[in-house]
Amino acid sequence: MVELKSAAEIARMRVTGEFVANVLAELRDRARIGVNLLELEAHVRERIRERGAVSCYWDYSPSFGRGPFRNTVCLSVNDAVLHGLPFDYALRDGDVLTADLAVGIDGWVADSATTVIVGTPAPADSRLVRATEEALEAAISVALPGNRIGDISAAIAGVAHAYGYPVNTEFGGHGLGRTMHEDPHIPNHGRPGRGYTLRPGLTIAIEPWFARTTDRIITDPDGWTIRSADGSRTAHSEHTVAITEAGPQVLTRAA
Ligand code: MG
Ligand code: MG
Repeated sequence: MVELKSAAEIARMRVTGEFVANVLAELRDRARIGVNLLELEAHVRERIRERGAVSCYWDYSPSFGRGPFRNTVCLSVNDAVLHGLPFDYALRDGDVLTADLAVGIDGWVADSATTVIVGTPAPADSRLVRATEEALEAAISVALPGNRIGDISAAIAGVAHAYGYPVNTEFGGHGLGRTMHEDPHIPNHGRPGRGYTLRPGLTIAIEPWFARTTDRIITDPDGWTIRSADGSRTAHSEHTVAITEAGPQVLTRAA
């Protein structure tokens, strides 16, 4: 069931979204050579605690994971792309790190992800990150009342294909608000003009993610981390967006 939100409810989601954006910006700044993923997890845990926020990941036990998840941020390095389980690993020069953060504040959730390259970027990795960011912006630009989910999906896939990257359709975007995952599902590949019609008050997470040379994924032995099946590097960009009469509003930008 799709739940449409009032302007007041969207405003409360924006409060959460600004917190998520600020913490992700802090992680981007802290993602330096030699920094351990567990230090980044500890930072997020402390920020959530001091803000009185609630992690959407803590105790998360979906059908696909080896639950419950006992961390507050997903950190995915290089070929890891989704649900990366933080572990004892010091970042190296050129690593591609995705941080994905979803929290609730006063009952309202926001979800965002960003990919940062540690130290000196390889040009091929910069290009991949740029593609997910451009796909996200293209998708947001068509998140308008009267358009359809398929328009968002097609915008994402269009950018991926222009760059020459394949698209996986198993994991994509989703509705959210009172919880992290609500209807509708938003595939990262689809046909324009098809699917659920976007309405004012719909709040969704749009999240293109690409691997350089495959659309297939494998699950790590840790039971959580999802990697590209061929080991190629990956990137992921996500924002929480509200559909409004005045156009799309990105709720997860830093204040
Ligand atoms: Mg996310
Ligand atoms: Mg999400």
